[in-house]
Amino acid sequence: DSVFAHVVKAPEDPILGVTIAYNKDPSPVKLNLGVGAYRTEEGKPLVLNVVKRAELQLVNNRSRVKEYLPITGLAEFNKLSAKLIFGDDSPAIRENRVTTVQCLSGTGSLRVGAEFLARHYYQRTIYIPQPTWGNHPKVFTLAGLSVKTYCYYDPTTRGLNIQGLLDDLGSAPPGAIVLLHACAHNPTGVDPTLEQWETIRQLIRSKGLLPFFDSAYQGFASGGLDADAQSVRMFVTDGGECLVAQSYAKNMGLYGERVGALSIVCGTADVASRVESQLKLVIRPMYSNPPIHGASIVATILRDRNMFNEWTVDLKAMADRIISMRQKLFEALRGRGIPGDWSHIIKQIGMFTYTGLNSKQVAFMTKEFHIYMTSDGRISMAGLNSKTVPHLADAIHAAVK
Ligand code: PLP
Repeated sequence: DSVFAHVVKAPEDPILGVTIAYNKDPSPVKLNLGVGAYRTEEGKPLVLNVVKRAELQLVNNRSRVKEYLPITGLAEFNKLSAKLIFGDDSPAIRENRVTTVQCLSGTGSLRVGAEFLARHYYQRTIYIPQPTWGNHPKVFTLAGLSVKTYCYYDPTTRGLNIQGLLDDLGSAPPGAIVLLHACAHNPTGVDPTLEQWETIRQLIRSKGLLPFFDSAYQGFASGGLDADAQSVRMFVTDGGECLVAQSYAKNMGLYGERVGALSIVCGTADVASRVESQLKLVIRPMYSNPPIHGASIVATILRDRNMFNEWTVDLKAMADRIISMRQKLFEALRGRGIPGDWSHIIKQIGMFTYTGLNSKQVAFMTKEFHIYMTSDGRISMAGLNSKTVPHLADAIHAAVK
């Protein structure tokens, strides 16, 4: 017997559970399109060459030690991360109005930012898009915020419901926090245009709402780091305040290293420094200080012009392979004469396609074709390659018949 005998078995995480089911399937044709991790044309995980070079440099540096980092992480990493997202010439950085702290990848950055807001911000309500990444509601609720949703996706157009979005944010209480995906919205792959971003910005600023950007895919959407940061930069050049959670999981392939950063852009340098002092009080009892290795890799690459340039080439290659998979899948579906308009596959942006397949069709494809994806019909384009596209197209064909 056990003092824990009453503990009931919890359900698997809806996203990570897909991989668990996939691993149990003995079929040789099985295909995992559930995970949000890049795969090569050969279907293998990828460690970027520039990351290997940075790691070699780190290993060969004899003076390198494994001491604790400060609570806020590696200072150089924080500085370079802020420049990466806000731009080299960001006035907010120049005016010392930004505090940046190293956190445990994107998830940890969101959590630390949310815990800070729950303690120090007068409005506890956060609006998240409908739909959004499945972890968002849990992260924010556990941090002490109260979660509401705003309209985002329009299933009839498989695009943005801009009017619904503006209506919902327009009727949000003053000061409410608004979670925005900086680019490559997960799971829909639908982003606002720059004009739509500008409309959203004006509404958010005129109502005094507080933007909290989740930037998990900078460079992964368009292939360009600056292009993918434009939404965030619009909200900084207007002089207003915002929060940004950055992840290096996807764009540097550092998934398991857990490298990310939280930046809070404040009205003045004095406020920023006081905010940072409070962030330390959030972090210290949570995990004390962040890990050193991943942040050292990132700092090594960002500080060196050659390595930085090599990274941008790698990044573009990953983004381009994903875009070419969109084209191949679209053509394969068209070639099979599958009814319906599938152009959303080439219109959507980033790692995922929101296929429009329902949970019954998804279950059918898993059972009959050994293809694994989340039940909302989201497929990871990064998990596809030229050889597996026909199998997926056959499965979709059979599922929609
Ligand atoms: N935010 C979004 C929208 C994501 O898709 C992900 C990863 O899938 C994350 C945050 C967090 O990823 P990580 O904690 O691995 O950086």
